[in-house]
Amino acid sequence: MVQKPTEVMVPDDQSDSTAIRTTQAEAEWEFVAHVEVDRFCDQCGYNLYTAPVGKHPELNLLLVRCPDCGHVHAARDQATAGSIWMKRFAVPLTIIWLAILLSIPFLSVMAQIGMNIGTVEEARISERQSITRADGSMTTTYVRTIDANYPSDPEDKFLVGMFRTLSFLLGLVTTTIAMVVLPHWYRWAHIGVALFLGIFAPVFLCIFIHYEYATPWSEGLRFAYVYFALFITASVIAAYLGRIFARALVRLALPPKLRTPFTYLWTVDGKAAPPMKLATS
Ligand SMILES: [Zn+2]
Repeated sequence: MVQKPTEVMVPDDQSDSTAIRTTQAEAEWEFVAHVEVDRFCDQCGYNLYTAPVGKHPELNLLLVRCPDCGHVHAARDQATAGSIWMKRFAVPLTIIWLAILLSIPFLSVMAQIGMNIGTVEEARISERQSITRADGSMTTTYVRTIDANYPSDPEDKFLVGMFRTLSFLLGLVTTTIAMVVLPHWYRWAHIGVALFLGIFAPVFLCIFIHYEYATPWSEGLRFAYVYFALFITASVIAAYLGRIFARALVRLALPPKLRTPFTYLWTVDGKAAPPMKLATS
């Protein structure tokens, strides 16, 4: 009976060059550093972040071996035609990215203001009033007040219910996006930003009522505080569960090959990333 040797050095051929083997030369690699940026294995997409960087004794090159599939890479970033173009586009793309990032809180605040003003306008009662001017002539004017019984009919109740649902969803979406695009922020910072974004609409509503209505400005708060509370509650939920939603979405929407750029959604919470490639066998 012939026993198979446990360590077989197969002569190199192209197709086998990425197989995991420990060669004599590699054993002598002098480990000098670790990969400190997100870099992805050319072969399998594994994130090489924290992988050891070794110096090849004969070639004097800095190399990284993919811990997952064994593919060897030069430790420095290669300059390719593609990467040069990427660098040219980096500044405009960063500016577009910042614009999108800043537009999200802006749109969120605008939507909240819209719902608050919309509610008060729906609850408006306009009354014609005759006013006697100082010179004795009469004039008519409209006095706007807020219906104390609003929302009373089913249609109005539906509208207010819809705005409440939207306020909740808005908090959920806004803070989930913040959790995904700003993973380096503390949770309390995300909640703080949500409070900051949520306070604009009630303040704006009070000012609006003060100038436009005969009713005291505080009347508007009975609508605004519910929207505010729902927005903040949803934001706090998202600050805790936002990245869980995001990870579920990545798993559902992206095949393993395309998940690589989102690895950080797992690593930032100290979790092992899901498979980034399809099992071949
Ligand atoms: Zn690999």
